Amino acid sequence: MMAPMLIRSAAMFLLAWPALAASYHFRAVWDGAKLWKDACVIIQGDRIQSVGPCGGTSVDLSRFTAIPGLIDVHTHMTYVLDNRVSQAGRGAAVVFLAQDNARKTLETGVTTVRDLGASDYADIAMRDLINNRQMPGPRMFVAGYGLQITRGRAPSPNTADGVTDVMRVVRQQAGAGADVIKMYGSTGSGRDVTGFETFTFEEMKAAVDAAHALGKRIAIHTYGPDGARDAVRAGADSVEHATDMDDATIAEMARRKTFYVPTIDHNRYYVDNARRLNYPPNAVDDLNNYIQRNLATARKAFAAGVRFAMGSDAVYTMFGENTRELGWFVKAGMTPEQALRAATGNGAELLAMEKSLGALQAGYLADAVAVEGDPLADIDAVVKNVRWVMKGGEVVFDKTK
Ligand SMILES: [Zn+2]
Repeated sequence: MMAPMLIRSAAMFLLAWPALAASYHFRAVWDGAKLWKDACVIIQGDRIQSVGPCGGTSVDLSRFTAIPGLIDVHTHMTYVLDNRVSQAGRGAAVVFLAQDNARKTLETGVTTVRDLGASDYADIAMRDLINNRQMPGPRMFVAGYGLQITRGRAPSPNTADGVTDVMRVVRQQAGAGADVIKMYGSTGSGRDVTGFETFTFEEMKAAVDAAHALGKRIAIHTYGPDGARDAVRAGADSVEHATDMDDATIAEMARRKTFYVPTIDHNRYYVDNARRLNYPPNAVDDLNNYIQRNLATARKAFAAGVRFAMGSDAVYTMFGENTRELGWFVKAGMTPEQALRAATGNGAELLAMEKSLGALQAGYLADAVAVEGDPLADIDAVVKNVRWVMKGGEVVFDKTK
């Protein structure tokens, strides 16, 4: 007898909920385009009603500056480093173990991720659980399996060789419910910093066309310049990692407005954790060398007018460090505001969500982050001083006391 009543009262609560508006008072609000001093953000339900001068009662967050919820466009939320569950059960335990990654990501102010590759569609399960409010976490846009060429092991669901195969695997991901397509266009991952092109231009073009025909965007991973050259010309929506890109490719990215997601910081994570990850001693030198070339390429691309989005490429225990990439963006020549734009408006645009995410403006989803310090003067205010996070009108992290 209890159950129907509970259901009825929950439904009434949900009906009543959008009527309640709440006001939050900040020292300043960077709305994605401009700075409001001493301003209030009014939230109604899961949306922003308005931003502007305060009036009436508000929640006092006047020690903090508000910025839009951040967008990390390159994660692997389902990669967990936990050997305590037996090998045979690891696949089934992944989503449970990945809750930690989701929570730590929220605590960095990242309220949305583009998750670029998972096994067994664990990413789809996680996205749905989060959307259904059964698991706390950032809203996820997921890729399912990332396409790879055959590499000497038994074929897996992501293996594709040749145009026909590529089209089939892209369509499988879209059919399974992926939001975006991921293709591994070169070698390079973890301690391996080689960047040999894997898929051909024709295969990349087939993947891009098959993805776009189904209304999906595509991210192409490439550690080296050859894969980048072909990915850009094939029409990839974003190019991931990519060092040593030649001037013509960089110019083409600027012309086509291809997003560059350099993920410089993920190799810093591998350097810091080389021992824990059992990397051989020479791996650290290779990784540091790669980081320097990655930064140099980012500097060149930014100067040439290429658009950036913030991607951490977080795996394992890197969650919670998702926004350290912003420090590299500033090193590459961006102002803190330009770096923030890469992690807000640009990320939203790459997700085709620029009307709902990436800004604190009327009508947008109520994703907001309160930071201590001035984020437009010092990017560390964002990287190190997140104190409060709201996602879809709900406070999901609060360290203001
Ligand atoms: Zn990745």
